[in-house]
Amino acid sequence: MTSFWCERAWLPEGPAAAVRVAIEGGRIAAVTAGGPPQPGDVRLGGLVLPGLADAHSHAFHRALRGRTGGAGGTFWTWRERMYALAARLDPDAYLALARAIFAELALGGVTCVGEFHYLHHGPGGVPYADPNAMSEALVQAAADAGVRLTLLDTAYLAGGLGPDGPADLDDVQRRFSDGDADAWAARVAALPERPGLRIGAAVHSVRAVPREQLPAVAAFAAGRPLHVHLSEQRAENEACLAAYGCTPAALLDAAGLLGPGTTAVHAVHLTAADVARLGGSGTAVCACPTTEADLADGIGPFRELADAGCPLALGTDQHVTGDLFAEARGLEAGERLRSGERGRFAPAELLAALTEAGHAALGWPETGRLAPGARADLVAVALGSPRTAGARPEEVPAVVSAPDVTTVVVDGRVVVAEGRHALGDVGELLRRAIEPLWAEE
Ligand SMILES: [Zn+2]
Repeated sequence: MTSFWCERAWLPEGPAAAVRVAIEGGRIAAVTAGGPPQPGDVRLGGLVLPGLADAHSHAFHRALRGRTGGAGGTFWTWRERMYALAARLDPDAYLALARAIFAELALGGVTCVGEFHYLHHGPGGVPYADPNAMSEALVQAAADAGVRLTLLDTAYLAGGLGPDGPADLDDVQRRFSDGDADAWAARVAALPERPGLRIGAAVHSVRAVPREQLPAVAAFAAGRPLHVHLSEQRAENEACLAAYGCTPAALLDAAGLLGPGTTAVHAVHLTAADVARLGGSGTAVCACPTTEADLADGIGPFRELADAGCPLALGTDQHVTGDLFAEARGLEAGERLRSGERGRFAPAELLAALTEAGHAALGWPETGRLAPGARADLVAVALGSPRTAGARPEEVPAVVSAPDVTTVVVDGRVVVAEGRHALGDVGELLRRAIEPLWAEE
């Protein structure tokens, strides 16, 4: 039994002072507020939040940060750079890169990552000796960085969607594809779950999975988290309408892919009927505001989606920043810019998106709150930093940033202490992993 005594902690009903959290077997055993520390308690200053869940990550996109910003272009020209990077990764390079990125996320309070993983095979689409070698690199990286992982193994079967239907894969995209949904499912089924790891499923998008393949993906995903990029760009909607005569959300609905186990990522360009469809089915939505801004995607109708019944989660997606708190601020900022109103999401709603809703979307519904029975994920943030000094604890989720995180506990284990990750200098780990990937440019 380990116990933490928190100067303040965010309990299900809000911030409280002098909170003692007792942990046994990686779970919270008891929470008591208003008492003094006991002998042997580990003291945590500031405000202790539940662990954060990054519900949408593509780890390798982190290597593009600071390398695509100045040249103009669109989502589609950015994607060319991303494909050039993907072509250079093998399991060893991916392990080093993902380990550093997951450590960067942990430094910012993330205790669980949803990795939307589609870089499966070797050059030309030739499988590695272990067809799950790239997945195993991600699994090892998360274990090394001390975070839980939901590996959202992604079906990516077509090179795009034209008016006459799915397009052929190009050379880089061949690395993403298993050929068809049955072969994809057989490969994923060979990857065992283990402590700290859930195996989920993903449909890359309606651009990359032909309509007739969707039911097989849905069948395999039953009982697992299922994620899908949805209507990130207008061009996706136009292609779907031209090819199938319906919106992407309607296509997923018809194929049986919507529901409480499903998370739609982005959900930017939606009709009112799409919003009703997503909300009515209880489909979760993952907003990635810094990526949606960086790639000029647009601002989704997130308040309307929440009001319609969609739980909202947040993701760092292409890792424009490694700061999940920035995604929460971006969610509210986008809402204000689009609506002309303030306070569209209360700080407590932002925290729920960062924590409980994110973990639930990743298949860990027992996580994300400081309450008995929950996984023991604790994130202490400083209240006296240049960013947080003077703030009321109730409003901290709307002003805090990753550098304010001092301590991170995952399943009862301390991963970050005094602002330092157990792996050491994360900036140096990132530099050593990223620079070789660009050595020939
Ligand atoms: Zn994405």
